[in-house]
Amino acid sequence: MQLDRILQSQGFGSRKECRKLVRDGEVKIGGVVATDPFAEYEEQGFQFEIAEWEWEYSEKVYVALYKPAGYECSHKPKHNESIYHLLPDPLVARDVQSVGRLDVDTTGLLLFSDDGQFIHAISSAKRQVTKSYRAITNQPVRDEEIAQLLAGVQLIDEPEPVAALEARKVGEKQIELVIDHGKYHLVKRMIAAAGNHVDKLHRYGVGGLSMEDGTLPEMEPEDWCYLRPKHL
Ligand code: URA
Repeated sequence: MQLDRILQSQGFGSRKECRKLVRDGEVKIGGVVATDPFAEYEEQGFQFEIAEWEWEYSEKVYVALYKPAGYECSHKPKHNESIYHLLPDPLVARDVQSVGRLDVDTTGLLLFSDDGQFIHAISSAKRQVTKSYRAITNQPVRDEEIAQLLAGVQLIDEPEPVAALEARKVGEKQIELVIDHGKYHLVKRMIAAAGNHVDKLHRYGVGGLSMEDGTLPEMEPEDWCYLRPKHL
């Protein structure tokens, strides 16, 4: 595919804007400044550099972000900044969407993609993709609380009790919880129903992806990385 078309497909603007990027010397391939916007490249595995970032061609894009607190998972946030401001413009131009949402004050792993099937597969209740959270609670965690979370707690608006797949006390005021639902404020509501209160919530895993077992590169809040086929 022609370089200008490749860049366009990856969200770098119109073909005209992409040709200008090349002519302005903004694009490097293999460490060398590209000069010909019409040069042909095999797009699979094609890597290039723009504005100090390394990019890799992909038909669909899959990204993991370390969400900091204080960002809304919405294109039109009401009271805080949009999470999409943390992603580089070319990804936003590709219309990536977050896979589910985290509350404004929740931190941790948030996935994005422009692949509707992938988003559906991860967020669909039927697929039961697990999500792993660590909550700092207001009160010391009691054994009965853990037992209740595992047995199922009755929430207002839910017809059936909701149970965690895993729940364990990992500190005096810390619980780790694995759930396979993606309902609104679910972890906070479950812990409230078990008699405690969440002060801070962090998601460290989604399905087979974890921020803590080396499946993803080390990330600081606000960092993002591509997800590779091995992750998906
Ligand atoms: N459960 C919550 O209560 N909040 C989140 O952000 C995610 C899961």
